[in-house]
Amino acid sequence: MISHHPDIGWLQAFAAGELPTSLALAVALHLEACPACQQQVHDHEAWLARNSWHADSKTPLVADLPTEQWDAIFESIVTQPESLAAPPQPAPPQLQWQGQSLTLPRALRHLTIPPWQRIGKIGRARLALDGAGPERTSLLAIAPGTAIPEHSHPGYEVTVVLAGGIEDQGAHLGAGEFLLWEGAASHAPRSAEGCFCLTVMAAPLRFTRGWARLLNGCSDLLY
Ligand SMILES: [Zn+2]
Repeated sequence: MISHHPDIGWLQAFAAGELPTSLALAVALHLEACPACQQQVHDHEAWLARNSWHADSKTPLVADLPTEQWDAIFESIVTQPESLAAPPQPAPPQLQWQGQSLTLPRALRHLTIPPWQRIGKIGRARLALDGAGPERTSLLAIAPGTAIPEHSHPGYEVTVVLAGGIEDQGAHLGAGEFLLWEGAASHAPRSAEGCFCLTVMAAPLRFTRGWARLLNGCSDLLY
């Protein structure tokens, strides 16, 4: 059971196509695992469609189309099931990291995933889809038994767990969980079982305790 979801404002912005690409990808990955949020997005899309219909009463009704256009649309609808019948599906691509494997979620299959950059026990693959904003989007592969030193986020961080699990703030977060972390509060996530996740960060993280603070000069490593 997923317990962390995007808030309703994010889901509505997703339905309206108003989120930056990086955040839209994070929401899409959550939706693949969360029927409840899928329903919220579906309901909002239906509401938007109804509103745009009333707002634009000049949109021609199908019944107003010339006969030959209507015939062509009808023909395409009735012939579609046959033309789509049972195309062979290739096996979904997999990512590997230190003995763990991830079947790529559908939302990631059309993207080019670069090779892992190794940062200790963490693999990072930065995705080339960020816009003009400060967001940076990466896939992270975390080996079993990895602890990330305590840190805070001067900007926000969105994490979507794709496989495996993370322990953070006393909670175990499994596949599909969507976390928004922002502000001065610090956390120290760890993964006993290992995990794959997607992160969107709006600024480098800041290590807040012990020797890890020495890493702040190069905290671009995980940004
Ligand atoms: Zn959800």
